[in-house]
Amino acid sequence: MPGLLKDKVALVTGGAAGIGRATAQIFARDGAKVMVADIVVEGGQETARLIREAGGEATFARCDVSRSEEVRALVDQTVKAYGRLDCAFNNAGIEGTVSSTADCTEENWDSIVATNLKGEWLCMKYEIPQMLKQGGGAIVNTASVGGLVGLPGLSAYCASKGGVVQLTKVAALEYAKSNIRVNAICPGGIRTGMSKRLGRQPQMGETLPAPMRRWAKPEEIGEVVAWLCSDAASFVTGHTMTADGGFVAQ
Ligand code: NAD
Repeated sequence: MPGLLKDKVALVTGGAAGIGRATAQIFARDGAKVMVADIVVEGGQETARLIREAGGEATFARCDVSRSEEVRALVDQTVKAYGRLDCAFNNAGIEGTVSSTADCTEENWDSIVATNLKGEWLCMKYEIPQMLKQGGGAIVNTASVGGLVGLPGLSAYCASKGGVVQLTKVAALEYAKSNIRVNAICPGGIRTGMSKRLGRQPQMGETLPAPMRRWAKPEEIGEVVAWLCSDAASFVTGHTMTADGGFVAQ
């Protein structure tokens, strides 16, 4: 909704593609100045360019969310560029390789957990002190329906996303009195590079997410995230919100 995030400064990780790009564009449409972060430089710069061409304000910064120094520098760069940090969408994530639990390699496990779980913790580790300094803020962490129910073949992914759900609740409780809201979004099947890559892995196949019988567009997550980040959601914290066409209601 245009104006929903007027005068806010927002940070989006995983902003080079998919849900992150769509959400960065919605943040900007709604009035926020956006720092777009990703390990993929070309896609991240493209997101920032698309926002500026549409009349918004955005900057790209390269950042690997699994690396502490890079995340600290990202938050510093955001504050340097725009003066503050009101909304953070910690969204960067990877799916890894599909395999049963016993066949999952240590390398697959470690890289998924480092990006999806440690990465979201590192983002909060550096975002929260800035928000405390300013007197508040709103954080949304990307979990997944895989953080709520088991998805065979995705043990490390589901474990990392279940960790994000719990991490979100703990941080929400710790900082509720400090006016920092922390929520998690659990997308279902969204049409992005990630779901296309997963669909190509022979063990997964192309399963249509039930019960709405369609895939969602990344924008359908971005609209929810923008609301969660906005003052319209001022009493919402510690919440795990599904946007999954009814998948986990089954
Ligand atoms: P995507 O692959 O299109 O986008 C993910 C982005 O994260 C990419 O631009 C990638 O370069 C970036 N990224 C990966 N590792 C990074 C790192 N270490 N540091 C910084 N950036 C990094 O996928 P998407 O579907 O848009 O996924 C976004 C988030 O949504 C992920 O956390 C994913 O687990 C979650 N999710 C997606 C779906 C779905 O169906 N697509 C469902 C549930 C949850």
